[in-house]
Amino acid sequence: MGVIARYREHLPIGPATPEVDLSEGSTPLVPSRNIGRALGLKHLYFKYEGLNPTGSFKDRGMVVAVAKALEAGSRVFMCASTGNTSASMAAYAGRTGARAIVVVPSGEIALNKLSQALMYGAKVVALKGTFDFAFETVRELAGRYPVALMNSINPHRIEGQKTAAFEIVDALGDAPDYVMLPVGNAGNITAYWKGFKEYHATGRATRLPRMVGAQAEGAAPIVTGTPVANPKTVASAIRIGNPASWEGATSARDESGGIIAAVTDTEILSAQTRLAASEGLFAEPASAAPLALLFRLVRDGKIDKDSATVVVLTGSGLKDPDAALKNVEPPIELDGDARTLAKVLKL
Ligand SMILES: *Cc1c(COP(=O)(O)O)cnc(C)c1O
Repeated sequence: MGVIARYREHLPIGPATPEVDLSEGSTPLVPSRNIGRALGLKHLYFKYEGLNPTGSFKDRGMVVAVAKALEAGSRVFMCASTGNTSASMAAYAGRTGARAIVVVPSGEIALNKLSQALMYGAKVVALKGTFDFAFETVRELAGRYPVALMNSINPHRIEGQKTAAFEIVDALGDAPDYVMLPVGNAGNITAYWKGFKEYHATGRATRLPRMVGAQAEGAAPIVTGTPVANPKTVASAIRIGNPASWEGATSARDESGGIIAAVTDTEILSAQTRLAASEGLFAEPASAAPLALLFRLVRDGKIDKDSATVVVLTGSGLKDPDAALKNVEPPIELDGDARTLAKVLKL
């Protein structure tokens, strides 16, 4: 069952909305086995969004945005993307017989995300410049031509993405104390906060979490308070200099009593490796940013050890093997037999 079927009454879905479903959502909330214990945190969970059909949380919002665009009569979808939005949009366009046009910043996209958009049948344009420039360009085209703009300023994306907050409350029985996630264009932190507030208003949650956002140091406009002209970070999904949902992110932070802070690429890659090697959860670099921030907050004594914390792992590690491989030992090349192998392995 996809998010529209599961949370229909909380979504802008009517009798005229076409059915779209790729069994997105309902991702596991995996209790930490080792990192929580090492940090002295009793209740640490990972919301494993990499298990969505195209490997990231983008599918939650895209399914609703596509259903609404089809309902409005649109048959051409367009987006600017750092990778995962395009993979998701292309998949749902393929499934519903619509045309997909994707504009990505040239040379800035993880190979596997690009291969997804191409395989799902999108027309992909690699535009010279940053993501922010690609986004301005598609926004201009969407104002002039009959195409549906599927970036996260599309309010239906936020509606779909808020279902992850519902799932966390449904799984835990109430809202946790902290929800930590990476912040790029800031649609997701906006969506989670909306979801928690809605569940709280209907009484399904008795409290609200503090929202904690992580940006990368080289792409931290919300932390510094100024747009970044040339954002730089290994975490391509949050390599964004001028977030579309800036206001949503600062509201989520301020209303919830949370924080948005920056971590370095070194901290991100080391958190990514530790997560994979000690929890069995392989997430892409952007997803490791909030975990890197958690390490720092615990070190600084800012997280109560009895609190319940959910770290959102936004995308699968398989999305960007090049980034991951930078931080591990390469395979051992060997020409030999069982004896030499045993020796090399010090068995
Ligand atoms: C899109 C994305 C982000 C950033 O989410 P925003 O809503 O743009 O803040 C983080 N991680 C992954 C894996 C993503 O695909």
